[in-house]
Amino acid sequence: MSSTEPVEPPPLYAAREPIFPRRVSGAFRNLKWALLAVMLGIYYITPWIRWDRGPALPDQAVLVDLANRRFFFFMIEIWPHEFYFVAGLLIMAGLGLFLFTSAAGRVWCGYACPQTVWTDLYILVERWVEGDRNARIRLLRQKWNFEKIRKRFTKWTIWLLIGVATGGAWVFYFTDAPTLLRDLFTGDASPIAYTTIAVATLTTFAFGGFAREQICIYACPWPRIQAAMMDEDTLVIAYREWRGEPRGKLKKGEHDPTQGDCIDCMACFNVCPMGIDIRDGQQLECITCGLCIDACNEMMDKIGKPRGLIGYMALKDENLERAGGHPRNIWKHIFRPRTLLYFGLWAAIGIGLVVALFMRSPIDFNVTPNRDPLYVIQGDGSVRNIYTLRLRNKAGDDTTFKVSIVGVDGQPVDGLTVHLEGEDADTVTVPPDETLTQRLYLEAPAGSPLATADRTDLRLWIEDTGSTDRDSSETVFNGTGQR
Ligand code: SF4
Ligand code: SF4
Repeated sequence: MSSTEPVEPPPLYAAREPIFPRRVSGAFRNLKWALLAVMLGIYYITPWIRWDRGPALPDQAVLVDLANRRFFFFMIEIWPHEFYFVAGLLIMAGLGLFLFTSAAGRVWCGYACPQTVWTDLYILVERWVEGDRNARIRLLRQKWNFEKIRKRFTKWTIWLLIGVATGGAWVFYFTDAPTLLRDLFTGDASPIAYTTIAVATLTTFAFGGFAREQICIYACPWPRIQAAMMDEDTLVIAYREWRGEPRGKLKKGEHDPTQGDCIDCMACFNVCPMGIDIRDGQQLECITCGLCIDACNEMMDKIGKPRGLIGYMALKDENLERAGGHPRNIWKHIFRPRTLLYFGLWAAIGIGLVVALFMRSPIDFNVTPNRDPLYVIQGDGSVRNIYTLRLRNKAGDDTTFKVSIVGVDGQPVDGLTVHLEGEDADTVTVPPDETLTQRLYLEAPAGSPLATADRTDLRLWIEDTGSTDRDSSETVFNGTGQR
């Protein structure tokens, strides 16, 4: 062939090669099963847990109450103005991800990501209906006949049911689950509920059944940014090629001392849900699920070689291991400045949120002085200031609040009267779960120091008359000394 002949460029699109992971057993597979059961259990059961909050509040333990713009989580209730709790939790989740990735690579992807969990569940169904790897490959190549139609139909029906259950569970987080379940069956649920279930069903069906590893490789941004959190101390799954190579098939009754430990059985490749061969080195596709470790350990047990040809390893230890040394203690890789920094930030935000949670006032209000006019001189010479009071009743019953005023030193202010618009006294009753916006009048007698002064700082107290809960806020009284 002439060297000047044009070279055909590689295609820009490669069709997906179907992946049929083989069944495997071992420590990592067991860990994954356990996590799958726990996470699916939490997801499906949580909306059905009840929590008594009194007659006027929902009794669902975890509820995103969009209609009333609140989030209930067992004994905790988050209001819209307390969104910083949600923001704090999201930041903690992000830092937690940094921490785990920095310590042990893509453990989130391999064990806990919903895409991994649901894909695992779908593969379990597929294997149960169509058989293990070889049977599934045979079925794929087989022409459409009764057996293939029956198996495909059964598999897709179960996948669809799982999708419906997934979408169904999702909407239960947003309204009372038993009521919504009944409404869904009687046709009384809102169109948005049916639409959400339909969308969640189809995405679960498509992502878990057909897209699988493509979501991780092409759609998810995490594989691209996780490298920034990893360094040579991060524990990653690696093939110890200095021990495995040169690889070669195991010949019965023969022992070749020049051959490495890898018998080229392809078990590590056959169990991989991402369809990669870890012996080719670190790859972006690897979600560090550990299944290739289980598969290889099984082989090593069978041929009587030590386990760990594939295993967790820090790059820092590679040269040490190549030279025949022992890797450093695993905790030395995990506890290092980077992970300690992530953990410190994560713990600081967590402690801050817990402190904020327990220190937040049970009474929620704010008071704003009206600026136009700053004050009004009444017929008897007294001076009136007008304020806007916003008072939220977070309780599940009618609550009566008393409004009072003292000086910033906590001492009573002579002659100053407090009066709420439309109320006879300095108390007001707010219905449960409602926010009351009302005018508040403060009046200083004619010629009093308050009336003639420029500005006087005051402290306004709101007290729940049915309990010991009270809270205060500073405000000002504008007198005629302004002129
Ligand atoms: S190479 Fe191993 S750890 Fe990585 S995705 Fe495949 S089976 Fe999981
Ligand atoms: S499972 Fe182990 S022995 Fe078999 S091919 Fe993979 S690395 Fe080699």
